[in-house]
Amino acid sequence: MKDTFKHKGLRLKLVEVIKKKGIKNEAVLDAISKVPRHLFMDSSFLDHAYQDKAFPIAADQTISQPYTVAFQSELLEIKKGDKVLEIGTGSGYQTAVLCLLGAKVFSIERQQELFRKTSKFLPKLNYRPKKLIFGDGYIGLTEEAPFDSIIVTAGAPFVPKPLLSQLKVGGRLIIPVGDEVQIMTLFIRKSETEFAKQEFGEFRFVPLLEDKN
Ligand code: SAH
Repeated sequence: MKDTFKHKGLRLKLVEVIKKKGIKNEAVLDAISKVPRHLFMDSSFLDHAYQDKAFPIAADQTISQPYTVAFQSELLEIKKGDKVLEIGTGSGYQTAVLCLLGAKVFSIERQQELFRKTSKFLPKLNYRPKKLIFGDGYIGLTEEAPFDSIIVTAGAPFVPKPLLSQLKVGGRLIIPVGDEVQIMTLFIRKSETEFAKQEFGEFRFVPLLEDKN
């Protein structure tokens, strides 16, 4: 597991690319400049690790595009110590970014293969999420709720109600909603019963799967 000056140089270039695309939050840019994305990918894609693209990982899933990771992370407005729930651990790349932003991260993954692999891998790089869970993101994580923010990293055909109800008042849910194409959607909980909703254009994710088999 090597992280060389060459990799660091490529990451700084990637940071310039996503800055040009509109990412401004310094802490997010700093996290992207630090997480060794090439180590989160299969060796056959190593040469592409610092392109601003999504790539295949195990279990027919993908590691998200760095711009998308940065975009979602920025919208969460994470403060140090925030309790954050992630749905779709995948390679753990987004999880690592959240850890560097100072969040206490709880992350749910429904593919056992990815759950196992990423649970072993993240501590090796010294990323220590509070808890990785093998389970179904549609139901969230009642026992740890409420959360300061929730991030969904797969395309949701609809907004799961439990995720809204597991937000603190003032908390934020960022979720790509749609089937083929998703609209990045932010919900801010204004009170026990009211949510403000904002939309941020089209993105493409692998689907948030509804049944576990
Ligand atoms: N953040 C990840 C993105 C992985 S792609 C990364 O950067 O690598 C989306 C992930 O969501 C996949 O790993 C997929 O297995 C997972 N997923 C799909 N449906 C899910 C569900 N219902 N609950 C939890 N995770 C789910």
